[in-house]
Amino acid sequence: MVLRRRSYVFALVLLEFLAAGRAQTVPPITTDSTEEQIRQTVGTARMGKKLTPKVWPNGARVAVCLSFDVDNELLQRANPLPVPLSVGEYGATTGLPRILDLLDRRQVPATFFIPAMTLMLHPEIAPSILQRHQHEIGVHGWIHEFWPSIADAAEEQRLFTRSIDYLTKATGKRPVGVRAPGSGFSPHTFDLIRKAGFLYDSSLLAADEPYEIVSNGQPSGVIELPISEIDNDYVYYGETANGALPSPDALFRIYKAEFDLAFEERTMFILTQHPHVSGHRSRIVVLDRLVAYIQSKPGVWFATMEQVANYVKQPAAASH
Ligand SMILES: [Zn+2]
Repeated sequence: MVLRRRSYVFALVLLEFLAAGRAQTVPPITTDSTEEQIRQTVGTARMGKKLTPKVWPNGARVAVCLSFDVDNELLQRANPLPVPLSVGEYGATTGLPRILDLLDRRQVPATFFIPAMTLMLHPEIAPSILQRHQHEIGVHGWIHEFWPSIADAAEEQRLFTRSIDYLTKATGKRPVGVRAPGSGFSPHTFDLIRKAGFLYDSSLLAADEPYEIVSNGQPSGVIELPISEIDNDYVYYGETANGALPSPDALFRIYKAEFDLAFEERTMFILTQHPHVSGHRSRIVVLDRLVAYIQSKPGVWFATMEQVANYVKQPAAASH
């Protein structure tokens, strides 16, 4: 019996191993690749038509989206011990409430990408965001799983559908936008997003302005609102101020310069923050200063990503 059980476990491990191997379905580009193979390899989700409108609503010259990835404890999936978990838990107990207060005070909307199981662990999060009546909630996986590591398309589809259903139930509205956890697109991810009828994705990084995603040479109708690692807090602060640049003042200067050129170029500025990272005292002060600075400029349209995607989608917005 023991032996049988062992071989059963062994078989499971082997299956997982094989499944993990199957996940690597994208052939690498090598010197032996043909032009056609290279074109196919890069073709899953490319930049198509630019969608920056001639003018933003109310004559604004720039659109600003504040986005928050509410990952909390789920970044500690591989090491779910009390201390690292508490680092993420801080996002729910302290970081997010501070962020919501800041948005109230400044009267600006924001978009929150939330893994389904963050909402299960903290059922108060969805109502606290929704009762402000100006924010949006989008998909960010089931447990913040990394989609390229999932064995097959059917399993990825199952988790994706489950995440959409969970958010729909928790918020009373089907989400229209998605951000891939860890910016991980498998070869199947874009097809799932398109087939699920999403209005927009916000995981890719191919430009500083909205564009239509082209998949295998075909315009998809899905809008990309691209992010940038430069406008993300995680790379600088890290999980526990162990990032490359844990100085809130330096971050303010970087974000300000990023916004200033977006303003100059009349495109858009998307900021990506994590409540358990940027909700800390010295950092939230800087986030507040940044929002105040942006508000001091004339012609800024603060919007949810859904509002931006809907706006750029209308033919009347006609890009330049
Ligand atoms: Zn995330």
